[in-house]
Amino acid sequence: MSDYIAEPFRIKMVEPLRMTTREEREAAIEKANYNMFALPGKDVYIDLLTDSGTNAMSDAQWAGMMIGDESYAGSSSYYKLRDAVQDIFGYRYGQPVHQGRAAEKVLFPCLLKEGQYSVSNTHFDTTRGHVGLCKATPIDLVTKEALDTEKDYPFKGNMDVDKLENFIREKGADNIGVIIMTITNNSAGGQPVSLANMRQVAAVARQYDIVLNIDAARFAENAMFIKQREKDCEDRSIQDITREMFSYADCFTMSGKKDGIVNIGGLIGVKEDEDLFTKVQSMTVPLEGFVTYGGLAGRDLEALSIGLYEALDEDYLEYRLGQIRYLGDILRKGGIPIQYPTGGHAIFVDARKVLPHIPFYEFPGQALVIETYLEGGVRGCDIGSYMLDPDPETGEQPEAEMEFARFCIPRRVYTQAHLDHIARTLIAIKDKADSLKGYRIVWQPKVLRHFTAKLQPLE
Ligand SMILES: *Cc1c(COP(=O)(O)O)cnc(C)c1O
Repeated sequence: MSDYIAEPFRIKMVEPLRMTTREEREAAIEKANYNMFALPGKDVYIDLLTDSGTNAMSDAQWAGMMIGDESYAGSSSYYKLRDAVQDIFGYRYGQPVHQGRAAEKVLFPCLLKEGQYSVSNTHFDTTRGHVGLCKATPIDLVTKEALDTEKDYPFKGNMDVDKLENFIREKGADNIGVIIMTITNNSAGGQPVSLANMRQVAAVARQYDIVLNIDAARFAENAMFIKQREKDCEDRSIQDITREMFSYADCFTMSGKKDGIVNIGGLIGVKEDEDLFTKVQSMTVPLEGFVTYGGLAGRDLEALSIGLYEALDEDYLEYRLGQIRYLGDILRKGGIPIQYPTGGHAIFVDARKVLPHIPFYEFPGQALVIETYLEGGVRGCDIGSYMLDPDPETGEQPEAEMEFARFCIPRRVYTQAHLDHIARTLIAIKDKADSLKGYRIVWQPKVLRHFTAKLQPLE
C-alpha cells in the first residue's frame, strides 16, 4: 500500500459533485469543441485544471471574511497583512494586489527597461508575458536535470548558476534588469529550488549588482521540500527556512491563490529599498487601487493574512506534498510515466510515452487529457505542443520539449478516494492507449490559443 498521510483537518462544509455517464461526457466535450477550458465546471467530477484559486479556505479564514475591514483607506485588514509580510518574510514593505500577474504588472516596469533581459530558472507564462510587455526578453536557465523526467534529483527547479554567470558576462550586467527565482519552479513540474542554489544565485546577483526577485507563489511547498531534502535542514522550522530563502532576494511577486490558500489575492514584497517601494505604490494606485486595498476587498486581505500562516503549518505541508507523492507512486506502480520525483502541486504525465503513436502536431498531451475526462470525469490540462502557438511568420507548429498532461491538486479539496479514482482512470487509459487518436485544430486565435481554440478528433 502506498503511504497516504492523513488529513490534519476534518470536513464541516461539503460541495456536492454531479456524477455523469460517459455518454454525457462525450456530449459535453463535443459541445466544448474538445477544449477543456470551454467545459462547464458542473460537467466535471474531479477538477484538476489548476491549483490556482481553487483552494478550500479554513474556518478561521471564513471567520476572517466576516471581520474584514472595508475602509477605503487604512483598513485594519491591510495592516494585518502588512504585519504578516514583515513577520513571515522579514520584508519591511508589503503591497497587496488582486493576483500574481497584477504584482508583475506593477513591479516589472519599475525594474525592466526596453531591450533588457530578465533571467530566471523558468519564467511562469504570465511572468514571461509581463517581461515582454516591458519590451524586455525572458531567458530561462533551468538546471539540465529538469529535462530528464525520470531522473531522481532532489532540486530540479534550480537555476544553472554557470549558465547564469556566462549569460551576464556575455550580455553585460547593465543589460540584465532582473533575476527571477520561481519557487517552486512551476513550469519545470512544481520542482523545488534549494537554499544552496538561492545562495549562489544571490551571490551572483550581488556581484553584478542586479535585482533578485522571487516569484513566490509556492514558497511554503518549496520550504517543505528543503526541510525534507536539503542537508542540515531537517530540524529547522518552515518559518526559519522561509526567512532564509527570502533573505537572499530584494523583492518578491506572489500569487496568493496558491500557497496563500485563498481564492483571490496577491502581494508584492520589498525587503528594504524605500525608493523601489515608493515606485511600487505609485504604480499600484492607477493600476490596482489605493495602496491599502490594492484591488481586493478588506475581507480578501483578511483571508490572505490568515492563509499565509496556515501555509507554514508542517502537518499541513506534509499532508499536501504527501498527496502528490501518493498519487505519483500509484501511477508509477500502474505503469504511467510521470515527471519524477513528484513536485509540489501537480502530477505531470509524460504523454509522449503513453501515446507514442500520436505525433506532436496531433497533440498527445491534449489527447490524453480529453480521454481522462471521457474515462473518469477528471479535468486536466495540456502542457505541451498544443499549448504552443504557431510561429507568427511561418504558421508552423513548434514542437514542445515535453508533452505533458498536467493534473493539479487543489489545496485541502480532494480526499484519498478521489486520488484513487484519478489513478484508476489513468491506468485504465494506458490499457487501451493504442486505440486513442490525435486531434486537429479547426479554429484558433492569434495568441494564447489553448484557452479558446476549437478542435476535432482525427479519424
Ligand atoms: C499562478 C502563478 C503566477 C500568476 O499568478 P495569478 O494569480 O494566476 O495571476 C505567477 N507565477 C507563478 C509561479 C504562478 O504559479
